[in-house]
Amino acid sequence: MSILKVARMGHPVLRERARPVSKSELRDSLMQKLIDDMIDTMHEYHGVGLAAPQVHEGLRLFVALLDEDPGPKSEATVIVNPEILPSGSAKEEGWEGCLSIPDIRGMVPRFTDITVAALGRDGKPIELRLKNFSARVAQHETDHLDGVLFFDRMTSMQSLTYLDEYSRYHAKDDD
Ligand code: ZN
Repeated sequence: MSILKVARMGHPVLRERARPVSKSELRDSLMQKLIDDMIDTMHEYHGVGLAAPQVHEGLRLFVALLDEDPGPKSEATVIVNPEILPSGSAKEEGWEGCLSIPDIRGMVPRFTDITVAALGRDGKPIELRLKNFSARVAQHETDHLDGVLFFDRMTSMQSLTYLDEYSRYHAKDDD
């Protein structure tokens, strides 16, 4: 397994629409290795999610920690070709960061209750009902597959903050 290089904002791959992954591609050992490497890379940089375009692969695939309170023991979930269906129209503002936009945080409105229909890494269909933080992570990562970054979803730039200032002045808002 290896740690992959993460594309930073400005790299064109982050602005392209990724293509679906076929079931036969998922049976390829190179695709399975990419998935394992993405999980390792996400953990290495203490992320809660990582989408394939962030490691220069234009594929509709992401890995994420979808527990409500992700910690070191959380298992990564692999999501392929996701479709997001909001349950209702309720949105909530919450802090987000991105491994492709290092050391920046901003407040982003997201649906609070969604269903994600996708394939798992074994090619079998999965359906996940996600709420609050895990729903936020899934929407952020699915946006990457469409070339969308969290800045694009912000309704105001006033909350933009560097990580140090986030920790000093805003982290408490989260709890
Ligand atoms: Zn991101």
